[in-house]
Formats: sequence, structure tokens, C-alpha cells
Amino acid sequence: MTTAMQHEFEEWWDSYPRKVGKLAAMKAYAKARKTATAQELREGIGRYMKHKPSYADYAHPQTWLNQGRWMDQYGAERPMLTPTDTRSFLESIGHWSIDCERLHGGTCQSGNAHYDKRDAEQAMKAQAS
Ligand SMILES: [Zn+2]
Repeated sequence: MTTAMQHEFEEWWDSYPRKVGKLAAMKAYAKARKTATAQELREGIGRYMKHKPSYADYAHPQTWLNQGRWMDQYGAERPMLTPTDTRSFLESIGHWSIDCERLHGGTCQSGNAHYDKRDAEQAMKAQAS
């Protein structure tokens, strides 16, 4: 590895949030630089740090480089569901709570309670007729 490359790697290493396995990371870095520019590798860290879910640990630097993680694509943030979206989704799957709203004013706490009540009502109706 050239001195210039080593210097470049040190800068990358400084930005990377998890500092383990430096020698392995250095080798992986040199390999990664055959297909990516120094800038791409640095900018990849920024995106990675911004989008990494809080439940996950930062990848080992070597792994991150070997897997080409600087090319990871992050989707747009999932938009919040509005009450209307939620409702049309529930309607589309025929969710019990939609049925319940109509029959029982949405008072049932669970699907089981709702279906029990509905069955009882239907049985009563059947008897009455
Ligand atoms: Zn109900």
C-alpha cells in the first residue's frame, strides 16, 4: 500500500464509527478502492450512519468494505399512515373492526368478542323469524 493510500485510509478510518480490525480494514480498503473512489467510500459512511437502524450495531469496517456497503441504497422514509389510509387498508382486508363499527358501533375490543356477539345476534334473528 502506498503512503498516499495509507493516508487516505487513515482519513476514512477516522470517519468510520466502529474502530475494530484496522489491519483487515486497511486491506479491504485497498481492494474497495479498485472499484470506488476515495470520495465514494467516505460519503458512503455518512449515508450509512444516517440510515443505520438503532437496533443494529455498526458493521465491522472490514465487512462494510468487503460487502460494498457504500453502494447501499436507502429508501425514502416510509410515510406515516394517515387515518384514511389505515381505514381503507382495514376495509380492503375485510377487518372485523370495520364490520363491528357498522353493527356494534365499534365497541368490541377484539375480533373474538365481535364474532361471538355477531353470531349470537344472528342466532337470535334466526329464532325470531
Ligand atoms: Zn362488534
